[in-house]
Amino acid sequence: MTRRPHWNVSLDDYRLGGNPNDIDFYDEFDLCDLSDRNAKRIDELTLLAARAKSANLFRAFGIRYGDPLLVLQFPAGESTRHLFVDANSVEEVLACPFEKYEYLQNYDGIWSCRQNRVEALIRYSGGGGILAHYRSDPPRALAVRADNGIALRIGFPSADAIALLHTHIEDSFRELTVSIDGLPLAAHDEAEEAVETVGNAFLLQVEPIIGDLPHLIPRHRRPWKLPSNSQIRLRGADESTLVYPDPPVRSEPAKMYFYAHRIPGDLPVVRFLAFYQVIEYFFPIYARIRIVEQLQGILQSPSFNPRSAQDVGKLIAAVPRGGPQGLGAELGQLVTTLRRCVNIDALRSFLTEHRNHPITVQLTSNEQLLGSQPLRIEHSCDRQSLPNMSSPNSGCDCDEVLVKSLAQRIYNLRNRIVHSKEGVRDNAEGSVLPFMPQADYLDADIELLRHLARGVLTAPESGNPR
Ligand SMILES: [Zn+2]
Repeated sequence: MTRRPHWNVSLDDYRLGGNPNDIDFYDEFDLCDLSDRNAKRIDELTLLAARAKSANLFRAFGIRYGDPLLVLQFPAGESTRHLFVDANSVEEVLACPFEKYEYLQNYDGIWSCRQNRVEALIRYSGGGGILAHYRSDPPRALAVRADNGIALRIGFPSADAIALLHTHIEDSFRELTVSIDGLPLAAHDEAEEAVETVGNAFLLQVEPIIGDLPHLIPRHRRPWKLPSNSQIRLRGADESTLVYPDPPVRSEPAKMYFYAHRIPGDLPVVRFLAFYQVIEYFFPIYARIRIVEQLQGILQSPSFNPRSAQDVGKLIAAVPRGGPQGLGAELGQLVTTLRRCVNIDALRSFLTEHRNHPITVQLTSNEQLLGSQPLRIEHSCDRQSLPNMSSPNSGCDCDEVLVKSLAQRIYNLRNRIVHSKEGVRDNAEGSVLPFMPQADYLDADIELLRHLARGVLTAPESGNPR
């Protein structure tokens, strides 16, 4: 046996059917060194390793609980996918022309340009709809054939799919795939496009027949994922801060906030929008307060002359035009709401205190996964070098800069989620749609937004007026 390679297999790798940490990996070893209790399987693994090596698909040997396994590495679009083959699955992989296959990058599926086929697993709700259909006697097929011979089918996995998608690890009698056979496919993206267009069209046709909408199983790696135990919690307060709520929160936005909390983390786009909605609820309230204060400022100015057309004109100019409810543009309303409700100095200290927290790192890093501007939480003035100027309101405009950059960051993301009309790309960074891997990058911004939404909801002026 030789050295252990520097290779950490990830849980995301292909259907291992176990914990990868239980495997010891080796670049090379003689399978004959292992016990001879399963000589036939070891011969098969040796044969498979030779085939994989000549097809340039061999990745590593491994031993799990004393049993040998092989790891094959296949192309999957721009990434790769690993297939773990042990004594239980070696026979079916050997029987499969695996050298002719690649994996799909974004779905649980395989494709082959030499076989002119693509096949992807589908998921369906357990209510029996589609399975009852297949188990009916005689079985009714969900399959059609185009005039040019292309065959489209929803059914139990092909032998190749069973071998390469490891469906036997699941209950193979419950696994179904959609497959397209006889379609010339020159490149990975064409295969994926085929399941997304032709495959999805067929699934939509099937929906009214079985009373269920089966769907392709998306796969993507999450290059950055918030560890679930690392959420920034509002700490540092103790029980002495509890007071009888006066004013209490408004019931409607409070329910929105609790609702947003209940949305699971794997629906990041929905979660983001739900927290945004909490803040949005207050837009008209704070936009009106701001207009009223500006008008009062003009009216109370000693130089204001109600008989002067020019002075009355100032009043008109202070009232915004356009925007929802004639209260000005939405971004301006967001800035106004945050400025009014969020204690920026406290937020700044809070984020500074959690500077090494994964969320803060993500928000302030120069490498922004979603192309946002990095959030600058430090003062950019020289006040930090002057300790006697560290009291709030000492004249710098860094708080205002931070409020505006918070608002801009959130508003841009919100637009990239909401504005997804076909052919319209009104933001340079591109859309963030629920099924895109980018949606997973929202985690840090969702935590920021949650923090801000809570601040807006519980700000005294946001309370329920008596
Ligand atoms: Zn400053």
